[in-house]
Amino acid sequence: MGSGQVTSSVPEGPAEFQGKHITVAGLGVSGVPAARVLAGLGARVTVVNDGDDERARAQAAELTALGVTVRLGDGATLPEGTELIVTAPGWQPGKPLFAAAAEAGVPVWGDVELAWRLRGLHGGKAAPWLAVTGTNGKTTTVRMLASILTAAGLRTAAVGNIGVSLLDAVLAEEPYDVLAVELSSYQLHWAPSLRAHSAAVLNLAPDHLDWHGSMAAYARDKGRIYEGNRVACVYNVADKATEDLVRAADVEEGCRAVGFTLGAPAPSQLGVVDGLLIDRAFVADRLRSAQELAEVADIVPPAPHNIANALAAAALARAYGVPATAVRDGLRAFAPDPHRIELVAEVDGVSYVDDSKATNTHAAEASLAAYDPIVWIAGGLAKGATFDELVARSAARLRAAVLIGADRALIRDALARHAPEVPVVDLDRTDTGAMLQAVTEAKRLARPGDTVLLAPACASMDMFTNYNQRGDAFAAAVRGLGAGA
Ligand code: ADP
Repeated sequence: MGSGQVTSSVPEGPAEFQGKHITVAGLGVSGVPAARVLAGLGARVTVVNDGDDERARAQAAELTALGVTVRLGDGATLPEGTELIVTAPGWQPGKPLFAAAAEAGVPVWGDVELAWRLRGLHGGKAAPWLAVTGTNGKTTTVRMLASILTAAGLRTAAVGNIGVSLLDAVLAEEPYDVLAVELSSYQLHWAPSLRAHSAAVLNLAPDHLDWHGSMAAYARDKGRIYEGNRVACVYNVADKATEDLVRAADVEEGCRAVGFTLGAPAPSQLGVVDGLLIDRAFVADRLRSAQELAEVADIVPPAPHNIANALAAAALARAYGVPATAVRDGLRAFAPDPHRIELVAEVDGVSYVDDSKATNTHAAEASLAAYDPIVWIAGGLAKGATFDELVARSAARLRAAVLIGADRALIRDALARHAPEVPVVDLDRTDTGAMLQAVTEAKRLARPGDTVLLAPACASMDMFTNYNQRGDAFAAAVRGLGAGA
């Protein structure tokens, strides 16, 4: 009952932010712009932040000048009079601030919810969202999608979890025609009223379970992306969990389920036939006809999981009405981000590939499936993962393994169980020189025709600032080998 009362005090439109007591939880990438925009709309904004370091103080000074109250070093206490919380997506639902909010009947929005509610504020025209989530492949797919939409002559941008502010995009002075939006499971958790034009869940494997609490809760949050879709819910035929999420979603009348597959497409699917990407969903007669979209060779790199990403991007673009030629042109124009299956060099007939972005087992399995034979460099922070399945499925392609990082023993044990014949080098050091030694060991173990693959299946923070730095260290070590050869 109480919630009915509270909801009525929550702003429905931009004008209603005037005078509202809004607490922004967390400074940083989303918090600072949110506080700035809300203050600009006349809300009474208080920012609460756990940390109290130099950076936070600089941000606080900037916001204070705009009339925002900032409380550093206390992210747990709910400021008195709060009518709405706008939280940074990473804040865990179990935090005391949210318990206090629930107690007081105060609703909580994430950065995506705020952007959704404010879309079209300036231009009047709200660009529809083509949204993408999944355990792996989100950034790649969203960037492919933006490339395709651009090739179709549309004004668009790849935004969201990709690191480009959604709030800025929806408030842009010159409005976009359509947005390619990457959404994380955290962001979806805090975005109850989001309604995309069309959306895709690329795949679903255990990740971030410490945050969500369980696999069921993680899946449920991912599945929110389909709620209220208008034209198409795009799912992965090879990953039944994604199809189950479509089934569970409440969508607009007439919205269709569209599958993508690396095999031949059935009606209402996109797939691959004889090296061509084929659309049997967005054609006039899907029982009898099909539309060629592009060649597999148009996709860089043409690894199986990346073809799947391209098909998902194509499905969303086609749902928006983009012609087949734009799919081809957009895929051809696309260049992958660094550290995602990036060929660094070939030295003495051995390819050195940097997939530092493979920070979980699901991603690492995809890149291990793309090469044979492999000298595998792996390890780091396991984030609670187990490695038995990954190793068992990839064992036949492994020439050798070189293990680094804090949780390497977990991988070593899985190798002992499922691939006892694969030689393993276990590097017991975490200093900056460790990657150079790993690459040197890998070179010793590799034979011409092999691929040395950095696909750590783990996070990097035990040894590096982030996966970028880990990939850079790998590339620098490989270039050193080339110079020495
Ligand atoms: P995300 O944004 O979801 O983290 P990225 O596009 O940045 O995804 O890719 C991250 C890593 O996941 C890649 O380096 C690759 O190892 C792996 N990957 C990419 N696409 C897929 C996919 N469709 N299925 C499984 N793994 C994938």
